[in-house]
Amino acid sequence: MSCVGICGSDVHYLVNGRIGDFVVNSPMIIGHEAAGIVSKLGKNVKNLKVGDRVAIEPGVPCRVCEFCRSGRYNLCPEVIFCATPPVHGNLRRFYTHAADYCFKLPDHVSLEEGALLEPLSVGVHACQRAGITLGSKVLILGAGPIGLVTLLVAKSLGATKTVITDLVQTRLDVAKDFGADATLLVQRSDDEATLVKKVHDLFGCEPDKTVDASGAESSTRLALLATKSGGVAVLVGMGPPEVKLPLVQALAREIDIRGVFRYVNCYPTALDLVASGKVNVKPLITHNYDIEQTHEAFETAKTGRGGAIKVMIHCKRS
Ligand code: NAD
Ligand code: ZN
Repeated sequence: MSCVGICGSDVHYLVNGRIGDFVVNSPMIIGHEAAGIVSKLGKNVKNLKVGDRVAIEPGVPCRVCEFCRSGRYNLCPEVIFCATPPVHGNLRRFYTHAADYCFKLPDHVSLEEGALLEPLSVGVHACQRAGITLGSKVLILGAGPIGLVTLLVAKSLGATKTVITDLVQTRLDVAKDFGADATLLVQRSDDEATLVKKVHDLFGCEPDKTVDASGAESSTRLALLATKSGGVAVLVGMGPPEVKLPLVQALAREIDIRGVFRYVNCYPTALDLVASGKVNVKPLITHNYDIEQTHEAFETAKTGRGGAIKVMIHCKRS
């Protein structure tokens, strides 16, 4: 293994010991945003050779169920996904993975970028689920790593106006650097109707695609209320298991509400976006630590100190 990025879910497992129905009952290695160098091959592996630098797609599905066979393997109930209990993750020096879920990196793509293909793939899937295309007006709620990669992908797809919200101004500053056309600082006490109006004023129209990358109930509500009639609201952020939503308002305006679960067949696209230079994920990395400093790395990720966005742990310096 070369490098592993820390995801919010890793921190969540460490702090709370569970995410919904996934409970950490015995010690578990965390990490699923990873890249490494092939050191050994299974006897039937044809697509890789020793020394190849690879990004690791962390979920390996069963390959035979109806979801796998119909091309929606992210919904496979038997998927084995790194660092989703009880499956160990890949924050370690050596790790074994299915060869066809390893993606060889071209020489000019770094291992750090390889690790970032994981969150980038979530952005690719979210934008595909939203149907973002040339001329789309895209509202993104939450400017964490997922909101930011969604912004990058939406722009690469030809979105002509992007507005992103957050509760934290420094995150919005980063979003601005990432090319957001406008940002909106939200406060927990904000009146909903006022927020909808502010969003529409910033667009000068109504967004036809909205991606909630925060999981906050107020954001999910805003997604349904601010999206143009006939538009699409994609829900990526995972908040409380049950939330109160203005559903009748949304259905009467034919808002398509679509869920996102990880990604499916997105690694090749994410890699092409990075390799072609269409998307630059490097600025997401704000902090780097060696594997011996993992404790400190998690403190940084947990507290967000020093404006942390993506914290990268290096198992071996490249
Ligand atoms: P993050 O916590 O770093 O980012 C969330 C951002 O939303 C933060 O910057 C926060 O300040 C902001 N926020 C919180 N409340 C808000 C509000 N009311 N309005 C606007 N912004 C608000 O997390 P992340 O790593 O970027 O992930 C985002 C979400 O996506 C998380 O809920 C995560 O669990 C989820 N996620 C889902 C999938 C999936 O497959 N569906 C995959 C990856 C992550
Ligand atoms: Zn399956």
